[in-house]
Amino acid sequence: MLNGDGLRVVLWVAGCSHCCKGCQNPVTWDPNGGILFDDAAKNEIFEQLDQSYISGITFSGGDPLHHANHFDVMHLMSEIKEKYPEKTIWLYTGDSWEEIRLDPIMKYIDVLVDGEFKIEERDVTLCWKGSKNQRVIDVKRTLEQEESEIPIIYCEDYKIEGAHHAANCAVS
Ligand code: SF4
Repeated sequence: MLNGDGLRVVLWVAGCSHCCKGCQNPVTWDPNGGILFDDAAKNEIFEQLDQSYISGITFSGGDPLHHANHFDVMHLMSEIKEKYPEKTIWLYTGDSWEEIRLDPIMKYIDVLVDGEFKIEERDVTLCWKGSKNQRVIDVKRTLEQEESEIPIIYCEDYKIEGAHHAANCAVS
């Protein structure tokens, strides 16, 4: 419930080179860390996505777009989109939209939370993100525009006044 709309499956991948000060998951920086993602792990994800109450999957980390992860993440996303076209895919990355908007992986992503975590802009009441500089981007709508450089934001920074929990946020 803390990593996007609805009840979601979340896959945290190992590998990140952003080294943000104050990162909550430095244990995920090492691309050789974590546990092997094997067929059993993939089947576990599919079993969860089979459930009608699961809204979709969120890729987090670490950085799912780190070069050690990119190929496998994109391949898994394509399988998921084919098998579960109605489920949404969210992805968290330290890269900025401007750097990655032309990446072919975007065709599988519904919502992207971009940008490095900046501790000086940290705010625990923000929707779906840790620091103010990050953006929760509606990828599909953004890519439908003639010019995709300016991202269309998926939801407001703060949905409910006084919210202290990301789960209180909702789509605008
Ligand atoms: S991009 Fe995310 S995982 Fe990587 S260092 Fe920054 S906060 Fe941590």
